[in-house]
Amino acid sequence: MILFKKSRDLHDFLKEKRRRDIPVGFVPTMGALHAGHISLIGESRKKGGLTVCSIFVNPTQFNDSKDFDQYPYTLEKDIDGLEAAGCDVLFLPSVKEMYPEGLKNLPHFDLGFLETVLEGKFRPGHFQGVCQVVERLLKMVQPQFLYLGQKDFQQCMVISKLVEIMGIDTRVVICPTQRESDGLAMSSRNLRLSPSEREQAVYIHKTLRFLRQELKPGYLDDMKERAIQYLAAEGFRVDYVEIAEAETLKPVTHWDGSTPLVALIAAFINEVRLIDNLLLQDSH
Ligand code: AMP
Repeated sequence: MILFKKSRDLHDFLKEKRRRDIPVGFVPTMGALHAGHISLIGESRKKGGLTVCSIFVNPTQFNDSKDFDQYPYTLEKDIDGLEAAGCDVLFLPSVKEMYPEGLKNLPHFDLGFLETVLEGKFRPGHFQGVCQVVERLLKMVQPQFLYLGQKDFQQCMVISKLVEIMGIDTRVVICPTQRESDGLAMSSRNLRLSPSEREQAVYIHKTLRFLRQELKPGYLDDMKERAIQYLAAEGFRVDYVEIAEAETLKPVTHWDGSTPLVALIAAFINEVRLIDNLLLQDSH
């Protein structure tokens, strides 16, 4: 695996590959890699061509500076994991490299409705930060394929919209959420959980499964409320439990029995905020 810290060097390297028609798959991350990230590398490798991973903890997407300061950092282990997974290129820029003009006066993206609900509502500015960094990364890497995890369901929609806004020829590939054996969605933030918090964390997935089990046509408010109560009783501070149209993320209060739905949860265990989601008509 080749490691680049400067975008100019990465650009020159990739230009040469593009000249030889080698397709590029790209996996942007914030490091503290786990099997979820590695599964994206695996998906990219299946296509052949070149797999580029970036590790950059993007300051502009953290609406909570404490969350940024405490974001886990495991670079040596990450490099070992990427090498073992067969990743070809690691891009490891500094903040100065990504934002040479500083962090002020960054572009604003018109994300419309998507920015007004769920993560957009509870983490103001978060998706602007995501777009600011992903736009730069996409311009640097110019991938044919961009691999994202369903774990961040709304982020997948936001980045798909960004790709549309940019008008680039990159295909977004959304890959399934990788879970621990008890169902907890893998997340870098899980590293911040104490052993007892780690046990508690599984209730997010259990609640999503409860919603899937309870789903029937008609009003959904009651089951959402029960899910919130259930999580609160397990000691969570709930930001939201929502059931939305899987295609648009519009909240659904009354289900017609056929529109594809996704259930989404964001909740704190003490200081650590976890998110997860489940497509409600999936059978696994
Ligand atoms: P992050 O490092 O958290 O910014 O995540 C980088 C990429 O990995 C994003 O596309 C995430 O959606 C994806 N990802 C994170 N956790 C998982 C998981 N458990 N399963 C699959 N993909 C994931």
